[in-house]
Formats: sequence, structure tokens, C-alpha cells
Amino acid sequence: MADTPPTEPVQPVDPDRPCLHTVFAATVTVARVEPDDTGMPKAFVAEVVVQCAPPPEGCAEPFRFSGAPAGLNYRHPTVSVDEKTLHAPMRPASADPDFGMGLPGFAIRQVS
Ligand SMILES: [Zn+2]
Repeated sequence: MADTPPTEPVQPVDPDRPCLHTVFAATVTVARVEPDDTGMPKAFVAEVVVQCAPPPEGCAEPFRFSGAPAGLNYRHPTVSVDEKTLHAPMRPASADPDFGMGLPGFAIRQVS
């Protein structure tokens, strides 16, 4: 008989208590922006989405990213309008620091 590793009991979600958000589900999608004739992209952007784990481990509440402006910019991280997707520009470790910086982006500002 084979040994099986012990498993931790799953804590059921109690609807009368707030979720403590201790387990997460995250996705990272890497976008290759405007590849040229050689197939080399002009930029790379990591798009990150995080939520509390789905039941029974968590409550599946989406998380919002703080501190980054809304829009898309290849010089610094930005967020989607609902702040649930982080757009983080990145480059291969061997690329120059200005890799992807010449591409246009956009900003979203709240006006009153
Ligand atoms: Zn939760």
C-alpha cells in the first residue's frame, strides 16, 4: 500500500465571517507588442490579475492594484480603469534599458 501525503483539511467559508484572504489565484499574461518583420516585439507587457482563491479556500473577490495611474505606458506600470489588471512593462534582461520606451501609450484621468 502506497503512502499518501497528508492533506490539510479545507476550511469551509463561513458566510457570517469576513474572508481573511489567505489564499490567492493569480494570472500573468505576457503581451508581445508590435513584433517587427523579424518577429521581435517592440515591447513586452506583463498583465497581472489577482483574486482571492475561489471557494471553498477563499471568497473569489478580485483585488485592485494601488498606486499606479490608469492607462497604458511603456515607461512605468499602469492599471486598467477598474484597477483589477496591472500592466507592467518589461524587457529581456539582455536588452537596453530604453527597450520599448518609444511606443505611445495613453493615460486616463478623472475629471470633476
Ligand atoms: Zn477572500
